[in-house]
Amino acid sequence: MHTPNDEPRAGNFLRTIIERDLAAGTYTGRRFAGTPGDAAHHAAGPLDAARIRTRFPPEPNGYLHIGHAKSICLNFGLAREYGGVCHLRFDDTNPEKEEQEYVDAILDAVHWLGFDWTANGVEHLYFASNYFDFMYRAAEALIEAGHAYVDEQSADQMRATRGDFNTPGTDSPYRHRTPAENLARFRAMRDGQLADGAAVLRAKIDMASPNINLRDPALYRIKRATHHNTGDAWCIYPMYTYAHPVEDALEGITHSICTLEFEDQRPFYDWLLDTLCTLGLLAQPRPHQYEFARLNVTYIVTSKRKLRQLVDDGIVAGWDDPRMPTIAGLRRRGYTPEAVRLMCERAGTSKAGGWTDYASLDIALREDLDPKAARAMAVLDPVRLILTNWDEAMGAGAIDACSAPVHPAQPERGRRAFGMARELWIERDDYRPAAEKGYQRLYPGNKVRLKYGHVIECSGATTDADGRVTEVQARLVPDTKSGTPGADAIKVKGVITWVSAHDGIPAEVRLYERLFTEEQPDAGGRDFLASVNPASLRVASAVVEPSLAAARPDDKFQFERHGYFVADRIDHRDGRLVFNRTATLKDSFAR
Ligand code: ATP
Ligand code: MG
Repeated sequence: MHTPNDEPRAGNFLRTIIERDLAAGTYTGRRFAGTPGDAAHHAAGPLDAARIRTRFPPEPNGYLHIGHAKSICLNFGLAREYGGVCHLRFDDTNPEKEEQEYVDAILDAVHWLGFDWTANGVEHLYFASNYFDFMYRAAEALIEAGHAYVDEQSADQMRATRGDFNTPGTDSPYRHRTPAENLARFRAMRDGQLADGAAVLRAKIDMASPNINLRDPALYRIKRATHHNTGDAWCIYPMYTYAHPVEDALEGITHSICTLEFEDQRPFYDWLLDTLCTLGLLAQPRPHQYEFARLNVTYIVTSKRKLRQLVDDGIVAGWDDPRMPTIAGLRRRGYTPEAVRLMCERAGTSKAGGWTDYASLDIALREDLDPKAARAMAVLDPVRLILTNWDEAMGAGAIDACSAPVHPAQPERGRRAFGMARELWIERDDYRPAAEKGYQRLYPGNKVRLKYGHVIECSGATTDADGRVTEVQARLVPDTKSGTPGADAIKVKGVITWVSAHDGIPAEVRLYERLFTEEQPDAGGRDFLASVNPASLRVASAVVEPSLAAARPDDKFQFERHGYFVADRIDHRDGRLVFNRTATLKDSFAR
């Protein structure tokens, strides 16, 4: 496995924290039993060979997007850098929205990005719902120790008594029940004797805490819902804020890295784990939570809910539409794992946030593909070019063998072969009926070079009744072939790409623009659908050089002048060539 394009790594505050912990030996002596479990389970295991443990904990309720890629790169990347292990954990404690399709897509996305949850032959792939039994046991222990109670106020009452930023909350009338009463009521909740919403289990902390998250947060709710893993075994489910720290501790996580919106939850994270460690239920040293600013990228949205809306409303063709900022979409568009990792690394990891320019992804892609991608000529929006003197100059029906390097800087990769003949395809845009300022391509009387071939002189064009050019004519200038002595005898300013009619292959080319016209489509509560770009996809017809007949789905190329393209992983097949433009070339082609 490769590390992201190995440039010197920028420091980030998480590296500083990990290095500090390693230097201080914070986690030395920590045991790990090989599988998740409680304090006794780990105590019986060996010393943990992993120096740190991190985790990536997606909820399987949608496809991962580029923001998740940042979290994946961070968690798996830090584990790799520091001799640790990163777990892939499905946070499937919410019974409602999870689907196998999403689980599969997430596994696929993590692998595609170049990471793996297997370490020394052990798969660290976990499902939080497998911890329900422990979570329940821990809840009973909290009740018995006087740290939790069953509150039977209505949701409205609970909201009203929580107070707000300026006002302390007030105690629930149920707050002073005895542990025995609470235990009986909690078991009644579990056994289905109470209606959905009739009660919740709450931690007993401090209703006057300046941190609202410590005002007796809910730990369990009643919800009659079938869970994909546990079926109808439970009608009570743990709240995320209770479940997540417990999951981390059961798995022996050392550094629990999350985005900044969880910062206010950290005191509860600490309270809960300290309490459960003191009760002897969870192993020590326990995990700690660290927050970083989420990745925001211009001209896209990164929220599963909003991405789902784009799919459901038919604005895009699916989760893997090449315009989607999902990992599946980026992949289909032709972005490489190396480019995504490089972009994530360069975006940095801090508490400050801010926006990352979408262009940085294209820059990373070009850096990755420039040395790798085979070159090819593709003529987009083609129009026919007839070399009127071909038969006299080259011989009737002659085909002139031409070639070009697969990669201009890597001669060892060989050459692509194609033929020039009397009838060629050129770009419609490469002809104008008259000279224009700065325009150096074809117009009557002007000479240009056909790349890798001869110099030609334009003589005119034929148009149809609507004035649309149907054919361009030119004369070949003999003895000017590229790479032959005398090729430079005639100086020309313009060079154009072309494909012969006899060996060119028709192809479909999909050209993408930004999906949104606004730089921050959903900032400040704005309706992101209002800035959907109606012209985000243009399908162009093309003729491509014969070397592309061998292109397989996912193969990447640099089409000369046009940028980086990928053979579409779904629609491209033998007999139907379909290429997606991933990104344009940095510098536009010569005028
Ligand atoms: P969404 O809001 O898109 O549904 P989420 O945070 O609810 O995202 P989860 O599946 O819960 O999605 O996230 C898994 C992990 O990915 C979490 O640790 C989360 O913090 C992280 N993550 C999600 N979005 C971003 C982002 N834009 N930048 C960095 N990390 C992110
Ligand atoms: Mg979420």
